[in-house]
Amino acid sequence: MRKYNFCAGPSALPTEVLEELKEEILDWKKYGLSVMEMSHRSKEVVEIAETAKQDFIDLLKIDSNYDVLFIQGGASLQFSMVPMNLLSSSNSLSNYLNVGQWSKKAIKEAKKYGKLNISASSEDNSFKNYPSPNNWQIDDSAAYLHLVMNETIDGACLRNHDNLPAIDLVADCSSCILSEPLDVSKFALIYSGAQKNIGPAGLAIIIIRRDLLIDRDDLPAMMSYKTYSDSDSMYNTPPTFAWYLSGKVFKWLKNKGGLENQKKENESKANKLYSFIDSSDFYTNDVGIESRSIMNVPFLMNDESLNPKFLKESEEAGLLNLAGHRSVGGMRASIYNAVPEEGVDALIEFMKNFEKQNG
Ligand code: PMP
Repeated sequence: MRKYNFCAGPSALPTEVLEELKEEILDWKKYGLSVMEMSHRSKEVVEIAETAKQDFIDLLKIDSNYDVLFIQGGASLQFSMVPMNLLSSSNSLSNYLNVGQWSKKAIKEAKKYGKLNISASSEDNSFKNYPSPNNWQIDDSAAYLHLVMNETIDGACLRNHDNLPAIDLVADCSSCILSEPLDVSKFALIYSGAQKNIGPAGLAIIIIRRDLLIDRDDLPAMMSYKTYSDSDSMYNTPPTFAWYLSGKVFKWLKNKGGLENQKKENESKANKLYSFIDSSDFYTNDVGIESRSIMNVPFLMNDESLNPKFLKESEEAGLLNLAGHRSVGGMRASIYNAVPEEGVDALIEFMKNFEKQNG
């Protein structure tokens, strides 16, 4: 029996997608092999790759002045690739927001390549309130401003994109991509690790405005965005299995009504969970209401000594991976696209009963 998976990543994949995979794993469409065993240069794999890319473009309504790249190394490699490619000897200044644990990692990497201006920080407030764009202190002479859109560990997110500044924005959308519509035209570059809403680990997808694709002979080929753009992300052997399965997730999303539908589903799931937590004296989530993530919901119990019991019993109830990130403790429910509403209902039911027995 499949259990409900609240892991922050690698996270739940749609059961329908895994069923399809099961059908194809030994013999893909009467080809006599699995996709994992085929050459990435074969017309079949090239078509799988191109279709996945196009479906991703369709889902996010990405304009043709952007390219979409499939790169290994996860989102962490992007912490380095972004400054390596977007900074140069003529401009090595960048703006960064410090809005959570992943921001700190991005900042640490970027410092190796140039000077940073921290435009806003919520660290003093334990990252509970995402700073409003109206309060960002931007150095306009910098090459870009980097932000982590949804801080997976802290559960804080920038959901309102009305007042974004005109500077080139670079967004880490690893834990919120494809969860709701996104106006890509407001950004210069968006990157996302795959293992949350996209597919299995092993990939990051980069949406990059084409004017930023410039020859960089000073960089290793594998570190240059241009290399991937010029070769349809097949300069070397790409992670074909992750790409193929991601393509199936995109089809699944399209068939369900695209990102407008996802937004509805995800808001409904998140509202239910936050409403329950807010109505309880036993559980708390102290992220500012405006900043609350609809993907990652961290919560604490008043009596922290109950945490191991909560985790043991929730696991026995078929609710997996509810431990908070090791750096912050507590609990966290990641409710990505592939976690169904029934999973959230089951979690709330469990939390109610746990409170009754231990409150
Ligand atoms: N950024 C964010 C917002 C993340 O949530 C994560 C992973 N959880 C990363 C970056 C790092 O991703 P990866 O493990 O793919 O390098």
